[in-house]
Amino acid sequence: MKSKRYARADKDVCAACGACMDECPRGAIEILQGCYASVNEAMCLGCGKCAAICPAGAIEIMDREG
Ligand code: SF4
Ligand code: SF4
Repeated sequence: MKSKRYARADKDVCAACGACMDECPRGAIEILQGCYASVNEAMCLGCGKCAAICPAGAIEIMDREG
């Protein structure tokens, strides 16, 4: 069953520090082109650990639709 929530990273705010990637228990985050974090929504548990550790406040926890 899918989690009800997922993380979304704002690439315009992300500083590409990699902290969220290291923190994610699912390995759902990668840094694309060395420039910004991207969350694989299908793998994300919505636990919020990435959002909590992000120094830039670039990650928001969203509700899944449906
Ligand atoms: S909410 Fe949790 S599972 Fe989802 S990307 Fe962030 S740390 Fe990973
Ligand atoms: S912790 Fe925040 S600033 Fe750092 S890579 Fe992740 S989203 Fe970007």
